[in-house]
Amino acid sequence: MQSCLCGSGILFNQCCQPIIGGTQRAMTAEALMRSRYAAYAIHNVDYLIATTHPSERVNYSKEEITFWATNNQWQRLEIIAVTSTTVSFKAYYLDSNNQLQVHHEHSRFVFENGKWFYVDGDYFGN
Ligand SMILES: [Zn+2]
Repeated sequence: MQSCLCGSGILFNQCCQPIIGGTQRAMTAEALMRSRYAAYAIHNVDYLIATTHPSERVNYSKEEITFWATNNQWQRLEIIAVTSTTVSFKAYYLDSNNQLQVHHEHSRFVFENGKWFYVDGDYFGN
């Protein structure tokens, strides 16, 4: 069994996999963020849409998410700072030209009806 793609050091089937699979809930904003990174890496677009807050889903098309998830090879996740409702992170990926890129984002999350949702984020240059 592989260690989790999110870099937690925990096995995938004890970390993000049960959250993505819906048998376990993300208990924190950070756990949701980690599972969303892993979902990008395994191209689980439905999970990414389901964990985006309903009010924000209009801003993301399934095609766009699919393109972003599948045209990049997700290398690793670095969590920089966490609060109860925000996560700053860097996601490292190889783009379609095999160049290493960094997606640096400060994301906001909200807890609603017993679930965490991704709301939106600010992006930074590398
Ligand atoms: Zn994980």
